[in-house]
Amino acid sequence: MAQGVFIPGHRGPERVEGEVACCLFHGNRVFVTRDGGHLALPRVDVEAYGLSLDQAHYLGTLDGTHCYGLAMPRSADLPEGLELLGMRALILEGDELVAGIAGQAFQLLEWARTHRHCGSCGQPTLPHAADRALECPDCKLVFYPRISPVMMALVYRRNGNSGELLLTRKPGYAPGRYTVVAGFVEAGESLEQCLAREVKEEVGVEIRNPRYFGSQPWPFPNSLVMAFSAEWAGGDVVPDGTELEEARWFSIDALPDLPEAVHISRQLIDDTLAQLLKSR
Ligand SMILES: [Zn+2]
Repeated sequence: MAQGVFIPGHRGPERVEGEVACCLFHGNRVFVTRDGGHLALPRVDVEAYGLSLDQAHYLGTLDGTHCYGLAMPRSADLPEGLELLGMRALILEGDELVAGIAGQAFQLLEWARTHRHCGSCGQPTLPHAADRALECPDCKLVFYPRISPVMMALVYRRNGNSGELLLTRKPGYAPGRYTVVAGFVEAGESLEQCLAREVKEEVGVEIRNPRYFGSQPWPFPNSLVMAFSAEWAGGDVVPDGTELEEARWFSIDALPDLPEAVHISRQLIDDTLAQLLKSR
């Protein structure tokens, strides 16, 4: 079975006997298995590997089995018969369910690893009694998992009977490949302000009619990408020389190499392209 039923939750049972569904990480890689060729999370008895669920993050149930995220110590003996896969490689496999659960586990483990002490008074933090959070026992400061909002914009313009997309390249991006504009939301900024600022800073143009397309968590380390299309409203393309290597208009009839279909950037491009083709 390729896809199962995942019911998220953050409060696990008091005690679990035997096997659980597990996102078991070794460094930045996670153990997976193949079920009839399809990617799946392994069912494991973590105590057999000398680990304890006391250190694990409860994620919910997967096909009725309790599901956890857990990091193995680097020195631990690795389980046999399982495949160790990097998070990017896992996402590129295109299994949304496994990628979603493993991505959540990856973010939670990284957040817990980097919030072991209170940022205000330095005391070791403890799990919060009610929420998925860490709390300082001394000054009571609460640390929730950090999520960094990223705005993504595909700028387009109609051109007679055709249309053009404004696409960009960063240094080090795959040869010949182009993508959309993206940047982090700054403190005090609305999403609309961020969209306009990022587009102006990165490619020098003004936009109008922003249209929400969708969102995608991106766990490197904790982004939440919100994708919009936006119509060109004016200005010449001037690529930001430090962040971008190139930015230019492409006719919708001659698009370059684009990101893989698992990326929301590609889904945004495909959707916008379909809208432009429909209005021909
Ligand atoms: Zn404190």
